[in-house]
Amino acid sequence: MAGYQNILLAVDFTPGIEAVCRRAKEQAGGAASRLRAIHVVEPVVTAPPYEGLPSLPVDLEQQMLDSARKSLAELLERVGLEGCSRSVEVGSVKWTIIESAREWGTDLIVMGSHGRHGLQRLLGSTANAVLHAAPCDVLAVRVEPAASSGS
Ligand code: AMP
Repeated sequence: MAGYQNILLAVDFTPGIEAVCRRAKEQAGGAASRLRAIHVVEPVVTAPPYEGLPSLPVDLEQQMLDSARKSLAELLERVGLEGCSRSVEVGSVKWTIIESAREWGTDLIVMGSHGRHGLQRLLGSTANAVLHAAPCDVLAVRVEPAASSGS
């Protein structure tokens, strides 16, 4: 069968990400079953950096995961991808996307050219890092300046 079969859609929740999701949907020929969405939450350090300071609440990471799951479900619904499988992971954003792509046998990663890291560079830092280490094709969808919060 022609076209990409296992597409990994990497999402943050910055303005412009909906257009990225729509491009991923196009690449999948509208078939949500060919898509998997991922959002990565960076680990929260709960131990205090200095003696005498209070620790952060240990459930902070859990709250971030819960909130990310909710935002991801809302985003996928807004772009008509509610049938798409999804995961929210904790880890390094770049390496978690790369590892998930390997585990899932991904043949295309779709992501935004820029998200929260702004438009100062040709490619945002996450997009650039993934492009250099990806085991498959990468589609960096141009995020228009007006849609980027970091411009
Ligand atoms: P950046 O390079 O960080 O400005 O972001 C570029 C793109 O990387 C975004 O449009 C997303 O597609 C992806 N991305 C950024 N952060 C995350 C994250 N935490 N989880 C999954 N994908 C992300």
